[in-house]
Amino acid sequence: MLTRFAPSPTGPLHLGHAYSAVMVWTLAADLGGAALLRIEDTDSTRCRPEYEAAIYDDLHWLGLHWPDPVRRQSDHRAEYDATLDALAGRGLLYPCSCSRSAIKAAGAKPGWDGLVYPGTCRARPMTEARPGDALRLNMARALQQAGPLPEFTETGPLFSGKIAVQNSDLISQIGDPVLRRKQTGDPAYHLACCHDDALQGITHVVRGADLWRATFLHVLLQALMGWQTPIYHHHDLVRDEAGQRLAKIVKSRAIAAYRAEGFGPKDLLGLIGLA
Ligand code: GLU
Repeated sequence: MLTRFAPSPTGPLHLGHAYSAVMVWTLAADLGGAALLRIEDTDSTRCRPEYEAAIYDDLHWLGLHWPDPVRRQSDHRAEYDATLDALAGRGLLYPCSCSRSAIKAAGAKPGWDGLVYPGTCRARPMTEARPGDALRLNMARALQQAGPLPEFTETGPLFSGKIAVQNSDLISQIGDPVLRRKQTGDPAYHLACCHDDALQGITHVVRGADLWRATFLHVLLQALMGWQTPIYHHHDLVRDEAGQRLAKIVKSRAIAAYRAEGFGPKDLLGLIGLA
């Protein structure tokens, strides 16, 4: 059994991260497995080295340990580009130059993760890609190529069981997702995350329920690329000792702010009902 904690260094870790990290290491211990730390720093406009340094520091302070070396996604861009090339070679990607306002103006409807792309650029061939274009996955074609999608196993408290992925949901609720971001050319989270879960042999993914819907897209990407689908465990969002959902202001407060006030790791875990 191998799991991972995969934060993005786009800001300081907060109570929600502490909760998630402890869930990851607890499940690994319960199942006699191990947990890796992975730094998901593909978003070159938002990730900062000082946030990455603070991740190591806060997690060590919480008493969590992981094997070296830690995989930093920004060191592996060529691998994600190779995956994009493979998908493009199968006719599954197209370049897109639409701005957010153009997407809105084209009458896009809200889906699971923001507006569902209305397909404006879908007919553009890759040979017409311009510098700065995003690359999108042609969902309908991807579903055709992938064939019947496997059910995935979910062991979390919210949606336990064998979960079927409906093609119609992928079309209507996700649409054609961006797999390479515009301007920077950074690989999208979904692509880098699934690539690395497969590469690192992750058998169990433990993460917050906010990523539940992303899993449906991840199962498709895994099927397309021939990657193993891990077992998923989406934990509920952080609660206090009394089982109440923490107010956003509390749960989004930095671990560093509590440390500066003299909290110890036990005090902090007590605050989120885990001590
Ligand atoms: N990097 C993602 C985040 O910080 C988490 C990815 C995952 O656990 O799948 O939200």
